[in-house]
Parts: sequence; structure tokens; C-alpha cells
Amino acid sequence: MINNIPRVRFAPSPTGYLHVGGLRTALYNYLFARNSGGKFILRIEDTDRNRYIPGAIENLISTLKWAEIDYDEGPDIGGENGPYLQSERLDIYKEHADILIKNKKAYYCFCSAERLASLREEQQKQNIQTKYDKHCLNLSDETISQNLSKGLPHVVRLNVEPGKIIKFRDHIREEVEFSSEVVDDQVLIKSDKYPTYHLANVVDDHLMKITHVIRGEEWLSSTPKHIILYEAFGWEIPVFAHLPLLLNADRSKLSKRQGDVAVEDYRNKGYLKEALINFVALLGWTAGDDKEYYDIDELISKFSLDRVNKSGAVFNIEKLNWLNEEHLRRKSDAELLQMLRTELSESKYSTLTYTDEYLISVIRVMKERVSFIKEILEKGYYFFEEPSSYEEAVVKKRWNNQSAEILKLYGENIRAINSPTKEDYENILKNTAAQFNTGNGDVIHPLRLAVSGIGGGPGIFDILYIIGREKTLNRINTIIEKLNK
Ligand code: GLU
Repeated sequence: MINNIPRVRFAPSPTGYLHVGGLRTALYNYLFARNSGGKFILRIEDTDRNRYIPGAIENLISTLKWAEIDYDEGPDIGGENGPYLQSERLDIYKEHADILIKNKKAYYCFCSAERLASLREEQQKQNIQTKYDKHCLNLSDETISQNLSKGLPHVVRLNVEPGKIIKFRDHIREEVEFSSEVVDDQVLIKSDKYPTYHLANVVDDHLMKITHVIRGEEWLSSTPKHIILYEAFGWEIPVFAHLPLLLNADRSKLSKRQGDVAVEDYRNKGYLKEALINFVALLGWTAGDDKEYYDIDELISKFSLDRVNKSGAVFNIEKLNWLNEEHLRRKSDAELLQMLRTELSESKYSTLTYTDEYLISVIRVMKERVSFIKEILEKGYYFFEEPSSYEEAVVKKRWNNQSAEILKLYGENIRAINSPTKEDYENILKNTAAQFNTGNGDVIHPLRLAVSGIGGGPGIFDILYIIGREKTLNRINTIIEKLNK
């Protein structure tokens, strides 16, 4: 290890949104750093100018902030090893490419796009691996300086020595081996003077003193190039840990076509960050304790790279929904109140005012019945407005020619009591049923229909007590008017 304190990084390319796979990579790095007392660095790999998207970096940072994955060094907060935007480090890459050129570990290549295309075509025809043929490796120093002074377009390529075995240890996959024959003379500096991912990534990981490179499996095949680079510079190689792929339910690679992949989509749908973090943490890692519900502190204390799996992790949306419910239920009334107020302010009820006490009573009876806070406004709409219609199947089953009379009497009975308690609503109901010589159900069901318009929901006496006597009486009148026409 380069020093005693582990240093890890999340190094996204700003694509416009944070992919859930990216969130997992960020999270594992974060958990690893927090668990080991190390440092977590955010570095933005923005050297692909063709893919530049305005606002993408800000979006990435704000999504990480939302998820509360905080880093110790990064573009917006600085640090000793900055800048943390690769586009601001071009001189550093040039300097390092020059060192490699000087040591013959890299070389200038002036080949035209046409030559490269026909080389490729020829190799494809022969059914052999397409790679650069080292044509420019042996240009004389003189030719090189002439070409450079003429300003001929060029790139810098890695000089991969053929016939070598490149071995490295991956913490998750153990020994990994590649033959250098399959490694292309990778472009390190492009003709636009920007570095490629490989050079910038290795130079930065070294200069930023990264001890553990924790990243997605899709980068495993790039690692041999990185090893060659570390060796070419004579640098210590960090520990690698390549995280398993994320898969759709049918075990194909997680794709947009089968569901959302952007963290902000989940955020917009109302998923709690705690649930998403809990869910993503389990995509490829297990604490080994048969539990599935974790808060962030537990994740930090339990996380270890030793229990990251090799095999792909299936993205199971039902599990995410379940975790969302679990996290929702464990939230305090105060937190839920704040969330409900936000939802209300963005809903059609935004102009109505409710006391905290009212909303907390609604939350208490509804939170076991919803997966998302905003569902309280849907499933429990009757706490915010009168029903405008009645569920047909319930009317058919529960409303009979006695119902209107029963409800009328129930209404009269509660009118006789000042500020009825929950128990009052219940006792009166029993009395009303007795007066009609019928079962409680003959009162409960029409009453529920009257106040909520639907057949299910929280306890009827809770609903009545929360909405109060006046609303209950109004709704009884309305249903009688509407259904007894
Ligand atoms: N820029 C790469 C990405 O977008 C980083 C890969 C790595 O962590 O080395 O994921």
C-alpha cells in the first residue's frame, strides 16, 4: 500500500445523469473509506470532449449530495491533490506522456484515419484481432521532429511489449491474467491533445495516492493497460476490486429498456435515499447476517470488500419497494410530516392549510399502508377532500335499502355528542346497529363508503375521528342524496 490511510475514489464521466451502477460504485467506495478511516475522493473524468454535456457535473454532484454520499476531496470542495476535474489537468498528462515517450514506453503516431481504417479492414478480413501494427514505433527521431514541427496531426500510443503475461490481483476476482498480445497500443494522448481515459486515470490515481481502485466490472478489461502504465512509470500498483455487473431480472445487463437506470428517476418517483442506498448496497455485497434492512451507519460498520460477490447482481425492483416501505415506517413523525408537507405543496391540495396535528394523525394511520409518502394523497385522498364518487363494486355489495336510514340515525346520534372521541364513534355505531337490530357491519360498510368512497383503508373510527364530526355528517348527507336518488 502506498501509505497507511486507504484512499479511494469515484471517478465518473459526466454523462448527464448518475446511473444506479455509478451510485453503487460511489457507495462502495464511500463505505470502504468510512469503514477503514480512509479518504474518499470525487474525480470527474471529463476528457472526452465529444461527450461534453452542459450541467452534467453539477447534476452528478447534486445527486451524490442528495444521497448523502459525501467525499473528502472533490471539484467543488477542493483538496490537496486537485484539481479534481481532468479537463483542468491537461499539462499533467502531457508531462507524463513525455516521460513515457522519453523512456520508449510510448511513441508518437502520425497515421491517418484512412490508414487506420484500412488496417482494420484488412485485419477483419483475415479474422485476426484488430489492433495497431506499431507502424510509427520505429520512426526516426528526425522524422518525428520534422512531423511535429510541421504540425502534423498525431497521437501518442502506449508501446505494449508483445509476448508478455500481465498478471494482477483483483480483490474480488483474485488472480487475473491477460496476454499482452490482446492489448492494443492504446492511444494515450489524442490528436486534440486530451488524454484518453487510460492515461488520465492511471496518472491521477497515482498522483491522488489512491490505494484501492473499486469500480465496475466493465473496466476489468482495461486494467491490463493500466498495469502496463503503472509498470512503465515504475509506480506502485493499487489494489483493484472490480464490482459485479448489474443485471435485469432476466439476467441481461441492466438496461434502460427494462426500467429506470438514473438515480434521479428513483428520486423523482419518491424513493427514499435511505432505501435506495440500502438496496444498492446489497447489489453484489452481503453482510453475511441474513438481514436486508440496514441504515447507513450499519452499512459503514459492516462493509468489507471481502464479501463482494463475483457474480452479477440482479436488480430486483420488488425488493427496492419493500425496502422503501421499511425505511418509511421507521421514519419519525417529524420527518414524515415534512415530507408530506412537500408533497402537499406540489399537489392539487396546495392551497389548503392543515395543522401539523391533523397531518400527523393522517400519517400515523396511513404509513403502514403506503410504499411512498405521496401515496398518502392518493390512497388517503379522503383526508383532503370529500369523495366525489363511490366505488361501484362496494356500493353494490354494501349499500342496501336500509343503509340510508341507518346512516341517518348514526348521524343523529353523533350530532348529540360534543367533540366525540374515537371510542364515542365506536360506541355509537354499536348502539345504532342495535337500534336497527342488525350487525355492526351494516353500519360500518356504508359509513366507510360515505366518508372515503372506497371499501378499504385504515380503521373506520380512526378516519372518523381524524376528519371530525362536521365532515362526517356532511359526507353522510351527500351519500344519501347521491345514492338514494
Ligand atoms: N471514468 C470511468 C467511468 O466513467 C471511471 C472508471 C474507473 O473508475 O476507473 O466509470
